[in-house]
Amino acid sequence: MKLKSIVLPVLTALFGIAAAFAADNARPNIVFILADDIGYGDWSCYGATKVKTPNLDRLAAQGRRFTDAHSPSAVCTPTRYAFMTGEYAWRKPGTGILPGTAALIVEPGRVTVPSLLKQAGYTTGVVGKWHLGLGAQSPTDYNGEIKPGPLEIGFDYAWLLPATGDRTPCVWIENHRVVGLDPADPIKLDYTVQRGQPESFVNGIPRIGRQIGGKAALWKDDEIADLLTKKAVAFIEKNKAKPFFLYFATHDIHVPRVPHPRFRGTSQAGVRGDVIQEFDGTIGEIMTALDRLKLADNTLLIVTSDNGGVIDTNGPDEVNAGTVETNNGHLQNGVLRGTKGSPYEGGTRVPFIARWPGHVQTGTSDALICHVDMLATAAALTGQKLTADAGPDSFNILPALLGEKRDQPCRDHLVEHGNVLALRKGQWKLIPASAGGGKNKKGKTRKPTVAELYNLADDIAETKNVAGQHPETVKEMSALLQEVREKGRSRP
Ligand code: CA
Repeated sequence: MKLKSIVLPVLTALFGIAAAFAADNARPNIVFILADDIGYGDWSCYGATKVKTPNLDRLAAQGRRFTDAHSPSAVCTPTRYAFMTGEYAWRKPGTGILPGTAALIVEPGRVTVPSLLKQAGYTTGVVGKWHLGLGAQSPTDYNGEIKPGPLEIGFDYAWLLPATGDRTPCVWIENHRVVGLDPADPIKLDYTVQRGQPESFVNGIPRIGRQIGGKAALWKDDEIADLLTKKAVAFIEKNKAKPFFLYFATHDIHVPRVPHPRFRGTSQAGVRGDVIQEFDGTIGEIMTALDRLKLADNTLLIVTSDNGGVIDTNGPDEVNAGTVETNNGHLQNGVLRGTKGSPYEGGTRVPFIARWPGHVQTGTSDALICHVDMLATAAALTGQKLTADAGPDSFNILPALLGEKRDQPCRDHLVEHGNVLALRKGQWKLIPASAGGGKNKKGKTRKPTVAELYNLADDIAETKNVAGQHPETVKEMSALLQEVREKGRSRP
């Protein structure tokens, strides 16, 4: 056999592999994991000692750990809306925390993270908590084809927990239908029923809104984390041969906190700590699956949270436990002030780890970034240009992920969305005076009645209001916040 007849095909094959590798490298798989209500201090790589998160710590060591990453809002729905659309949710009425009867709030046809990636040839999937509404009108009819939903705004596949774990309906949706629904026992929801009323209990746990019917389709609370992980891994496995985008929104660690028995009692911070460790177990399984399928090197894996941490029982029963006592001194938001819902840093500054071996530089980054930036970042990653009306508040944070241009921030300001709007710029944080004043209905988060200015460079815990010493900064930042509000966009 002549040498040429062996060498040529081998070379051709090698070049083919190299070309395919280059193409794949230009378009990594993207797995974006959004935890629920996990705070800045909840993982050991962010300082926790009473909760152990070995998988997240390993991920942080292999990737880049951000210290100034923010959720676009201090609560669930608006964060998810902004992540999906690249638009601050506070610009659009009706994007507050939704009931399980709400219609879809993302207009089909607009540019979203999944629709943009689909355009670039990605197969797109969502697994987990949706909470962006379903159907064309409220109340959602869960008994037939449920649409529009994720499949109408860019996803190829959906496995959903429709609203939240503590809101009805307590059933799974796959693509357009409730899984395992008996047509003879249709679902009807009554959102006049408050959590804690006798009619609000499902699986022995009080929910917001009563669920009538759908008995055969009810989820099992202590199996939610395992089932979602299984669905996420199945999506990855099914699509391993081509570029894919998976948006994996976990139920952990939102209430009700019902860990699988193997995690119960494993932390030193009560049930709330146990479900953080269950979340860490989920991350471990995703990492193992990426390794097993030899996808880890070609996957941008991001793990973060949808808002800051909070100690809440959110109901009369013990399974929701998460009290100051059971928390045992664990600081869910580290040294930060405020919690979920608040305009202080504890409301939106969240853990954020990104890994893409050989591309995302290892170490830590103090770059100011936000989940609202994912749209412009996905566009940059796939070589697409955003149209002028798409993602009005989305900045490309690829340089921060890849570690280039360390001295140039990707965004020089950010609006933080708590119960009032706050503004970050450089070392400064402005919370303008609010007409509302006082406390909210739970007596938790007050709205500042005078302007508050903090110098985060030496006061990250927002303890000293220095507005009086820096009237010019207050004036400039107030004007910028007003401009960002009035202009309808902040992306250049
Ligand atoms: Ca949340």
